[in-house]
This record gives sequence, C-alpha cells and structure tokens, in this order.
Amino acid sequence: MAAILGGGLGGLSTGYYLLKNCVNAHMKLALFEASDFYGGWIRSIRTNDYIFEQGPRTIRPKGPYGLNTLNMIQELGLSEHVSAVLPSHPAATTRMVCVGHTLHTLPSRFSQIFTKTKPFSKPLILAALHDLTQPGLELKDDSIYNFVSRRFGQELADYAVSPMICGICAGDAKEISVKFLMKTLFEYEQTHGGVLKGVVKNMFKPQPENEQALSELALKSQEERWSVYTLQGGLETLPETLKEHLVNNNVEVHSNSKIEEIEFVDSSSVLLRNKKGEILDLKHVYSAIPAHALAKLVERQHPHLSEQLEQIPFVNVGIVNLFFDSQETLIAPAFGFLVPPKENSPILGVVFDSCCNPEQKGTVLTVMLGGRWFKERFGDNITKDQLLAIAMKEVRSILKITMEPTVSHVNILEKCIPQYVIGHYDRVEYIRKYIKQHNLPLSLVGCSYDGVGINDVIYSAKAQVERDCTV
Ligand SMILES: Cc1cc2nc3c(=O)[nH]c(=O)nc-3n(C[C@H](O)[C@H](O)[C@H](O)COP(=O)(O)OP(=O)(O)OC[C@H]3O[C@@H](n4cnc5c(N)ncnc54)[C@H](O)[C@@H]3O)c2cc1C
Repeated sequence: MAAILGGGLGGLSTGYYLLKNCVNAHMKLALFEASDFYGGWIRSIRTNDYIFEQGPRTIRPKGPYGLNTLNMIQELGLSEHVSAVLPSHPAATTRMVCVGHTLHTLPSRFSQIFTKTKPFSKPLILAALHDLTQPGLELKDDSIYNFVSRRFGQELADYAVSPMICGICAGDAKEISVKFLMKTLFEYEQTHGGVLKGVVKNMFKPQPENEQALSELALKSQEERWSVYTLQGGLETLPETLKEHLVNNNVEVHSNSKIEEIEFVDSSSVLLRNKKGEILDLKHVYSAIPAHALAKLVERQHPHLSEQLEQIPFVNVGIVNLFFDSQETLIAPAFGFLVPPKENSPILGVVFDSCCNPEQKGTVLTVMLGGRWFKERFGDNITKDQLLAIAMKEVRSILKITMEPTVSHVNILEKCIPQYVIGHYDRVEYIRKYIKQHNLPLSLVGCSYDGVGINDVIYSAKAQVERDCTV
C-alpha cells in the first residue's frame, strides 16, 4: 500500500493522479489527514448572501499549469460550476495599488506604457530603456526586488513587483528569489546581459508547444481569454469533489489521523506512526504536508534532511472577511488593491470579492494582513477583535466606507504560505537528491517545493506521480 500524508489540495491531487496513472487492483492507496477537514487552506464559508473565502479565491487559467487544472476540473464534472472573469470585466482590467492612502490603477493596456501614470513618475517605456543601458550582473540567484530594480528601475520594484509578491505569497520581494516569478527574464540577463536583448534573441526561436491534450473547458478558457475564475459555491467545491472522487474509487481516506513519525526500512518499506501510536506498514509515502511538518517526522532518522526542510520559511496571514448588506455600491468595480511594503501599512491588500464573483450579494471584501511582517507589526498575541479593528480602520480610510459591516469573520492562518527565498530552488534540488541517494521511498508534493499557487500544487502532484509511475 502507498500512503499520502495530508488532505489539502496537494494530497488530494496526488490521490487523483495516482488513480489515473498507476493504481491498479494490486496497489492500495490510503490518505491521512491530521484534522477533521479536507482541503487544507482552501475553505469557504457559504451562506445565501455571501461566500467568505478563508484562503484562495481565484485561479489563473493560463499557461500549461492553468490549462492542466481546467482539464482536471472538467474530468471531475465541475465545468458547470466554473465562474470566469472575462478580459473586459473590471476585475480583469482594474488592479490597484494604494500609495499614500490613495488608490492608483496599474496600467493594463500596452498603450498606457507611453504615458505617465501615477504612482510612477515616468512613462513605463523608460523602464525598458533602463534595461538596455544597464550591464548584466553574473549571479546564481538574486531577490526579485534587486533584479527588477537593476533592470527596470526602483519604482517598478516598489510599486508593481513588491505589492504583487505580497498578493501572491504575502512575502517580501527583497527576500524572494527572482526565479519564483521571473526565471526566464533572469536567464536572459545571465545569458545575454539584459532582458530585452534576451527577448529579441529568443523572438525567432520556436516556442515549445503545449503538449497536453486540452479539455473543452480549457479550450473555452483560451477562446474567451479568461483572466481568472472561481467556482460557484466557493473554491472548497474543488477539494470536496476530489475527496469524493478518491472515496468512490476505494482510496482509504482517514481524517483526524495525524502522522507523527516516519521510519524508513529500505527502498520499498516504510513505517508510519500515527497519533494513536499505531504503526502502519507501507511501500511508498507521498508527503503533501508542509516542509516544516515533514521535518519533524523524519528528524530522528534523518536529522540533516529535517534541517534542510525546516529551512523553508512560512508566514502567518490574517484574513478579515467583511459583508456589507447594502443595495448601494460601496466600492469601485475592480479586482481590489495591494499596498506596497514601502508604505508600512498594517494591511497587505483588499480583494473586492463581490466584483470578482457575481454570486455575492451586497459588498464583500477580504482584507489580508501581516504575511512576512506579521510578527513585527502585530506581535504574538494579537486578538481577532484587534485585527478586525485594524482592518476596518484601513477600509474606512482608504475606501471611505462609513457603514459598519453586517457580518465579519476573522482568522489567523499560521504558517500558511511558504516563502521561496533566494536559494530555494537549490535547496529543493538538494533535498530531492538526498532522498534519492538514501533510497528513501518518499516523494515530495504540495506547496512547499514547486510553486505556491493552486495550479502549481496540482501540476506538481501530476508531474511527481508521472515520474514515479514510469520508474
Ligand atoms: C490566504 C491564502 C490565500 C491564497 N490565495 C490563493 C489564490 O487566490 N490562488 C491560488 O492559486 N493560490 C492561493 N493560495 C495558495 C493555495 O491555497 C495553496 O497552494 C494550496 O492550498 C496548498 O495546498 P497543500 O495541499 O500544498 O497544503 P495545505 O493546504 O497546507 O495542506 C496540507 C494538509 O496537511 C495536513 N497535515 C499537516 N501535518 C500533517 C501530519 N503530520 N499528518 C497528516 N496530515 C497533516 C494539514 O492539516 C493540511 O490539511 C493561497 C493560500 C493562502 C494561505
């Protein structure tokens, strides 16, 4: 029997791809989840009036990873539940940053790069010229902030890239690896001495084709050029359906089953000890739990591996969901806004959920707080009431909403998003090499290693299972 640790999206997707690719009548599969809930950070509070997403809220449809998720969604029979944001919708065209307590819409059309748009002091085309005049710097890795400042100027790093990093991983662009989002551009600098030089030299090279067969849903997303999408009833519908799919296909699914230790016997035998002290004898383990949690399970037998896993940092995020039961429009139509870290604001940004998802009634907002700066801004003992008060003060001041929320919900998500800091990709390669050299029957999936978003987690499960099943 093979086991999957963790019933978040990573674990459930691993089960899905194992069923699809390699589980047969002779191979049994079991999934162990520590809590009584399947979905990990994907959790939707649903009522007739609003949906409060506790974790992720939208999925990007583009690129091979985005298309792969749409293939899975169709195969799970969820196509009818998809609610897409089309390219002309304000949630696609209007993404804002908050500088000096004022909202500025970031340029979304090519023509806008020739004019000056606040908060930038010069037209963005000049950022491209900056790249042409700067020499290349030979580096193995760099922070995304340094890279963008060096190539395109500090304003782009401060007002576009730093808030974007807050939006994606609640992190500090000055610490996050350039390879997290701009691997190809960084390689252009390393190979050709500049980004635009690299773009021009690669322009006429044949681009790799998308090799995967596309479902009707994936093709529809391309034809209609979706910006992002969500699922009716909230994103929790996805892990719920995945879990049902595993159960219907005879996967043993155990909740309240925290695994507390892993003991590797040989290359095809491994023992798991659960919190009740029971020992389970297995052939292979797929770890879809956070790296810091896995570190504890392997510490006794493999302290060095444990140390390396522990080095992948995670941050806490405060989530404040607000529902205003009002016929009146309280916000401008937009995706929402992010706050550049330079502003030293207690909030990372606000998503305008009622604009992104037509199912919502009234005005629904989600305020995100803390992230990389959670401890320094709020300490260790901040209460949910205090976080709500902080969020409301910012909402009143920036969005000029005077009404009290009809319903609010506050959650502090501890160690919820891994930070792919400088050196992350070398560390993950080293960890996987260690596992291979020691012949450990262990595969790593989930958001700690190959990407932090929903598409990355699903694709990483697919890629890992396909590698294992062809061995
Ligand atoms: C606030 C927030 C907003 C986000 N927004 C977006 C977004 O808009 N779009 C997007 O694409 N992505 C977003 N993401 C990222 C996305 O949610 C994650 O990539 C994904 O949910 C990670 O899934 P996972 O299975 O790897 O990890 P997790 O969700 O952490 O699941 C791990 C599971 O393992 C279990 N576990 C831990 N230890 C043990 C143990 N010892 N034994 C058994 N089980 C154990 C846990 O209980 C948990 O259920 C967001 C994340 C957060 C936190």
